[in-house]
Amino acid sequence: MSAPFSWIRPEPWGIHVVPADCWIDPARPVASALVTHGHADHARGGHGRTIATPATLAIMALRYQTHEGAQPVHYGETIRLPGGVEATFVPAGHVLGSAQILLDHAGERVVVTGDYKRRPDPTCAPFAVTRCDLFVTEATFGLPVFTHPPIAQEIATLLARLAAHPDRCVLVGAYALGKAQRVIAELRAAGHSEPIYLHGALERMCRLYEEWGVALGDLRLVADAPGKDALRGRIVLCPPSALNDRWSRRLPDPITAMASGWMRVRQRARQRNVELPLIISDHADWGELTRTIAEVDPPETWITHGREEALLRWCQLHQRRARALALVGYEDEGD
Ligand SMILES: [Zn+2]
Ligand SMILES: [Zn+2]
Repeated sequence: MSAPFSWIRPEPWGIHVVPADCWIDPARPVASALVTHGHADHARGGHGRTIATPATLAIMALRYQTHEGAQPVHYGETIRLPGGVEATFVPAGHVLGSAQILLDHAGERVVVTGDYKRRPDPTCAPFAVTRCDLFVTEATFGLPVFTHPPIAQEIATLLARLAAHPDRCVLVGAYALGKAQRVIAELRAAGHSEPIYLHGALERMCRLYEEWGVALGDLRLVADAPGKDALRGRIVLCPPSALNDRWSRRLPDPITAMASGWMRVRQRARQRNVELPLIISDHADWGELTRTIAEVDPPETWITHGREEALLRWCQLHQRRARALALVGYEDEGD
C-alpha cells in the first residue's frame, strides 16, 4: 500500500492531483484545472479545461473574455475525473461561486479550501464544514493578532462618518470581486438606500452579481454624475489602486476609506493614506481558522497561502498532525 495522500502533491505552482493529472488553482497554464474561485491569484486564464462552479466560470469569462474548455460543476455535485478520482464542490463562503474542493480517491478524502471565511455574507453561500482525512487550509490571516470585528460595526462607523460630513463624500477602496459587492449589500442591510456611486472598474462585476441574484440597489457611475455637488453626502466605491490617483480629484473632499482585513495593521492604512480604515475581510481570521480546524477535525492538516508558521504551531500544541506548504504566486487579491 502506498503512503497516505501520496496521490495529492503540493508543488510550488499548485496542488497536483496525480492520478487525474489535474491541478488545483494552478499558477501557470495546465491541461486540466480545478479552480476554487475567481480571484486572479487562483483563477488564471489559458488552461485547456477549467472545472469550476458556474458563477466562478462566469467571473472568469468576464475577466479573460474566454469560455473555452469550461466545465461547470454545481455545489454538491460530484464529478468523476480520470484515475478514479471524484471531485465535489462545496461552498467556501469567500466570494460568489467560491468553493472548497473535496477529492475522494483510494478511500481517502481530501478537502482543499481555497480561500474561505465563516461570517455570514449576503453575497455568497456559507462555508460548509466537511469531514475529511486531510484538510488543506488557507492561512492568509494566520496570526492571533488578526481578529476581524463584526462587519455591522464597521458599516455603522462608515455611515456615522458620512452623516457627520454631509458636504463631503466617503470614498471606499474595495476589491472589484467580492469585497465591493459585500460592502454594498451590507450597507443596504443597514438601511442605506441612497444611490451608491461606482468607479467604472467596479461596474461589470457588480452587474454580474446582480445577474446572479444579489440585489445591490441603486448603483450609479461617478462618470455619470452631473458634478461634484451630486456626490456630496454619498458613498463612492473604487478599486484600491484608484484611492490616491488623479481620478479622485473629481470628488468633493473625499474621506478616504479602505475595506480590508489588513486595515488591522495601522502601517498598511498609513501607506495608502487611508483616513478611515474598515476592517472587513473575506478571509477567516485567527479564531475562525483554528475553530474550523477543530470542527473539521481532520487526522492531518496542510497549511498554505499566508502565515503558515503560527497555525502550524497551534496545530502542534493541540496534538494535530500538520505541515506547512510553500506555494508561490498567491497574492491575497480581495483580502
Ligand atoms: Zn480569494
Ligand atoms: Zn487567495
